[in-house]
Amino acid sequence: MLIPVLTEYEKGHIAERQALPDRYLGLTDEEMDRRIAAARATLGRRLVILGHHYQRDEVIKFADYIGDSYKLAGQVSRHPDAEFIVFCGVHFMAESADVLSGDHQQVILPDLAAGCSMADMAASDQLEQCWADLEQMLGPWHAGAPEARGRQSCVPVTYINSAASIKAFCGEHGGVVCTSSNAAATLKWAWARGEKILFLPDQHLGRNTAYKMGVPLDQMVVWDPNEIWGGLEPDTVERARIILWKGHCSVHARFTARQIDNMRGQHPGIRVIVHPEVPWDVVQAADDSGSTEHIIKTVSESPAGSIWAVGTEIHLVNRLAGQVQPERTVFSLDQFGCLCSTMFRVSPNHLLWVLEGLVAGEVHNRIVVPDAQKHWTKVALDRMLAIA
Ligand code: SF4
Repeated sequence: MLIPVLTEYEKGHIAERQALPDRYLGLTDEEMDRRIAAARATLGRRLVILGHHYQRDEVIKFADYIGDSYKLAGQVSRHPDAEFIVFCGVHFMAESADVLSGDHQQVILPDLAAGCSMADMAASDQLEQCWADLEQMLGPWHAGAPEARGRQSCVPVTYINSAASIKAFCGEHGGVVCTSSNAAATLKWAWARGEKILFLPDQHLGRNTAYKMGVPLDQMVVWDPNEIWGGLEPDTVERARIILWKGHCSVHARFTARQIDNMRGQHPGIRVIVHPEVPWDVVQAADDSGSTEHIIKTVSESPAGSIWAVGTEIHLVNRLAGQVQPERTVFSLDQFGCLCSTMFRVSPNHLLWVLEGLVAGEVHNRIVVPDAQKHWTKVALDRMLAIA
């Protein structure tokens, strides 16, 4: 198993975990496992634990459901009995779960410091400024809900890896949320309703998906929220079919086409599969790309003897390697292993703390989306769930 090497930046951020009471520090693995299992058993059907694929093994083994953001979002409404939904993932995932859950349910994130660097790259005031700028640049503007206004000039689409305020904006302006599983179907949905798409916050997912659908690179522009008018001229925006927000995932941006060349040199016949959050040239150099669910399915169903290099978060890669061996061999495309350092903040200690709190009648770390954002966030998420 490849143990990821942390950069100084990542070490510093892991150290920023939410502080726990002293009695939850220094426990042995055996004691933590025993006490987490006991708390789960006590809570029974009142509790559902959701775990994202990128979560570490010591935590994911307690999840009732493991999946990507799309799959886990779908589990929320399937468990109306559960009073407590403990989301072992990052902040935006817990927000979406809160919006999709019933009023009687409470969503809990074991470590409040588990955020997402990509989601942090789009703030609602920046999006409002961008929208106002686009309105000026594109002239007569139809930005309301399509059923009310007819065909729109521009449809906002946000990746699920974004704050609830961004999702609410998209819902209110005739747009939608997408995941890496349904990104192509979502872009098709949006282009059926408008001439252009504003895609945020991940420029790579937007570019890779649109390119795969046949949109040439010269019909895509990148909107830099830190520049006047996004750093773009009105006629460039006018010609674009998709406007990509200048955001990225700090984990997936580490993969390079050179790594693929090296892998092919070391392992003739190896196949390379990557997540679409990686840069465009990496997708072009790979054999296949797709969501975490697509990666797992493709590798698991490949013929015996297949050798794979996988370009995504290291916990998923290590787990997949263990599941498909010895018939198939899986390597991480990055020899140092790309780790989502924010997801890694959710430790078994934090999980134990929130579960024992629930047993004692105390709810720690509840995630609540403000009422003002809830309605339109739900509209955008419901549109996402309706798109296959
Ligand atoms: S892998 Fe990237 S996009 Fe996913 S949660 Fe971590 S930082 Fe965010």
